[in-house]
Amino acid sequence: MTEAAPAATGTLTASTSLTTVNVSARRKVRYVFDTSATKRDLALPYRVSIDGKVQEAAPHLRKLSGSKRSIELLVAPGARVALFLNSDVHPDFRREPVYALQVGEHDVEVLITEQPGRIGHARAVVGTSVTRQAGQPGERAVDCYKALLTGDIWMQISHLYTAAQADAILPPETAPPVRVAVRAIYSGLPAAQLLVQFPASDGAPAHALRVAFADSENARANITYCSLLKDVLPRTHPAAFAALLSEAHKAGVTEVHVTSCWRPMLGSIAHRAGLGLDIVYVANASQTVRINRVGLIGAGGRNPNIRAREKQLYDELILAEQQARAISGERIATQTESTQKEKIEKINKERLARARWNDERNLNEPKLMQELRQQLQKNPSVKQVFDPWYMEADTRDQSPQTANEQRSKNETIHADHLHLTLNDLQIL
Ligand SMILES: [Zn+2]
Repeated sequence: MTEAAPAATGTLTASTSLTTVNVSARRKVRYVFDTSATKRDLALPYRVSIDGKVQEAAPHLRKLSGSKRSIELLVAPGARVALFLNSDVHPDFRREPVYALQVGEHDVEVLITEQPGRIGHARAVVGTSVTRQAGQPGERAVDCYKALLTGDIWMQISHLYTAAQADAILPPETAPPVRVAVRAIYSGLPAAQLLVQFPASDGAPAHALRVAFADSENARANITYCSLLKDVLPRTHPAAFAALLSEAHKAGVTEVHVTSCWRPMLGSIAHRAGLGLDIVYVANASQTVRINRVGLIGAGGRNPNIRAREKQLYDELILAEQQARAISGERIATQTESTQKEKIEKINKERLARARWNDERNLNEPKLMQELRQQLQKNPSVKQVFDPWYMEADTRDQSPQTANEQRSKNETIHADHLHLTLNDLQIL
């Protein structure tokens, strides 16, 4: 879609001197997104519709990136253009063409600005244009439009799954009790909770899993009217709930608290596209786990998931790291044999400090947490699992999970809950 326009070449024989003219018949259309109000580099999925036909696109032309915040097209004058965005890009949905326009004689530029707050009147339309005249000879004038991306519009471009769609989307191996529970979510739950009953089988006794859903503050703050049960839960991908319920059951969890599913205007695209789930609490008959390790960094407060001994070992690791870094920063030319020896010692000391922190942390990690994480990482629908103990950015790649050291932004965000991202390549 971004290749150069084919130039029509015509030869004018009627004129006295022979002249060749290039007529570039196509018009440039550029949609520019400003999502800096919530996340500047938001990886918003998109597809383009031209004259009612959705264009197939290479993977790098299916979502915005940090360096590319625009969608650029070349179309014939008179073409009707529209976008499908977010989870509505899925080929089975595409119900909500937005920011539609008809191209005239000029090029077109549409600036779409994300605006938080409850702005009910704004619609996903481009309105009327202001024409920017061509500056240089040979340039074309540009019809400029301005539009908003509000919470209400986010809701519009986030697919609302029906119970039948949920049933069809779930992996065939989904256990019947999970299937029944997930269907119930999309039929509209009567209350923000769910009881999943697993009957006894050859391998396991009967098991009941209680799920509680917290209201979405972000949806309330940015959408005119948004119901947790009718709007938020059913905009979340059915396989996300199925993965959580199936793996919680396998890990022996009897209670889980879900705090965030689909949400319109916070954080990465995962939750906005309905592919993210956050949980803050799990329990079984013998253990309750508040999924929180805030306080690992700095002076910290009391947190039952960080024992004094672990905190001490973590602080020792930070110190050992600083010392190793200081000595490795010295110029090689000035290093004597003794400084090189010292350098090796410092690096070994850092390795040892890390091993001791890892051992102590693992020793105290609630077993239920370990088991749930391991199960979630094995689930074929799950792409990422981030929690206060461990970070796994890609369950399919070869690199192992890493300890959550609460240093990077992503680590810090996940110091107080477990997040999972679902894999659906048709969306993201
Ligand atoms: Zn999350």
